[in-house]
Amino acid sequence: MIQYISTRNSEHKVRSAKAILDGQAPDGGLYIPENLDALKLDYHDVINSPSGAYDFRHMAKVVWNVFFPDYGKDAIDELVDKSYLNKFSKDEITPITKVGDYYVLELYHGPTAAFKDVALSALPNLLTKARELCDFSDETLILTATSGDTGSAALCGFSDVPGTRIIVFYPEGGVSETQKLQMVTAAGANTCAAAVRGNFDDAQTGVKSLFRSIPKPCEGVSLSSANSINIGRLVPQIVYYFAAYRQLLDMGAIKDGDKLDFTVPTGNFGDIMAGYFAMKMGLPVNKLICASNSNDVLTEFLQTGHYDRRRTFFKTTSPSMDILVSSNLERLLYYICGEENTRKYMQELSEKGEYQISSEELGLIREVFCGIASTDDEGSKSIGATYSEYHYLMDTHTAIAWACADKNEDKSGCPNVILSTASPYKFCRAVLAALGEEPEASDEANMNKCHELTGAEIPAGLAGIFGREIKHKDVIDCDEMKDYVVAKSEGRI
Ligand SMILES: *Cc1c(COP(=O)(O)O)cnc(C)c1O
Repeated sequence: MIQYISTRNSEHKVRSAKAILDGQAPDGGLYIPENLDALKLDYHDVINSPSGAYDFRHMAKVVWNVFFPDYGKDAIDELVDKSYLNKFSKDEITPITKVGDYYVLELYHGPTAAFKDVALSALPNLLTKARELCDFSDETLILTATSGDTGSAALCGFSDVPGTRIIVFYPEGGVSETQKLQMVTAAGANTCAAAVRGNFDDAQTGVKSLFRSIPKPCEGVSLSSANSINIGRLVPQIVYYFAAYRQLLDMGAIKDGDKLDFTVPTGNFGDIMAGYFAMKMGLPVNKLICASNSNDVLTEFLQTGHYDRRRTFFKTTSPSMDILVSSNLERLLYYICGEENTRKYMQELSEKGEYQISSEELGLIREVFCGIASTDDEGSKSIGATYSEYHYLMDTHTAIAWACADKNEDKSGCPNVILSTASPYKFCRAVLAALGEEPEASDEANMNKCHELTGAEIPAGLAGIFGREIKHKDVIDCDEMKDYVVAKSEGRI
């Protein structure tokens, strides 16, 4: 049965339920499956359901069983059904569409119109079961730093889930008006959202340090995480790589066994890390293309092996990718560089703000990954061109991936799947500008204008947010986060 270890201490071993419950390892590392070889299976067993039909939930069940064996098959059947039945507006859950030379995998048909829903529909169920499996009586307080989309998806997923409370920290001024409204109007008696005076990295660093300083902020309450540092958030994302493969087979776009490239708009390196796990499980993948916006720290790293967060932080029109410390990279580093070097690099990153891996290590990473960056302007041109050529409307994050795919000089000839991570309606202002239209004053007007212009459907989860009561108004400094969390947990939100 696979065990989870910390990326900073392989002696620390836990079952999957415990890894999900903790969110992050006590030493500050991230939980990962001890051994990649143990994940290997025949991918046909994932993509082919008993009835033969395309079945996302079947794929999820097979993948979850590999990663969460201690839950037991019956529990997993139940949890997967609970996570995906009647929650997404498309039967495929993650449908794929051919657009020009690419295949766009739409991950945003969940309740908050972001790809985070795929994982955050699942995590509360996984966590609730983990509490039971680990005989855990404390309430679980979920702390989450968000660059915009995790916040609303997590608030929605955990809303009124028994035994849980959730606090979301988002960067003040760092999210779109729509994203902010989704968070500050979140329902549920157990939810809380606060703006932090700082950027996403400040919020994430703050949250990570709270796991170490106040793992139990008060008697009867323990912390966990809904960020992609939680392995329970990452694993559900592996499934759609298989779902993409199966859909391309059904479309006749590939033959069985053909390899695919995936282009992934990347921030915290969680989504693309899920692709790496899919590949290690045996899915035929050629390259994982890591697309970044102007915050191109990963592009430099994947090209030179030098990770350097000491650079200008840009606020872009793809805010969910405005990240300089990509947490999940630590998971990849462990598998490539081993425990000792990973610990050393992470220490250098926190003390000096940079590290350099060896050329041998870089070579291994580059066998799979390739890093490309595009600017807001390039993304914007992609939105305009894709709309005028194919009448296909994409959001600003997907557009960065599209622009990076166009720029890729090292084309493999494999079909390229672009992961589409948000509905264009979450970023109407920038999308309208890309279409050459004058944006209106409010996002509500922009949403309507976008709809009138393109006829594209407004997601149900977004249509109702304007005019809802604003419930969460707090704005705090980074150094107040600790006191804030203690006070909220004492008052139970
Ligand atoms: C979170 C997010 C990303 C980045 O995903 P990571 O797993 O953090 O790399 C990209 N696009 C959108 C819209 C997101 O919400």
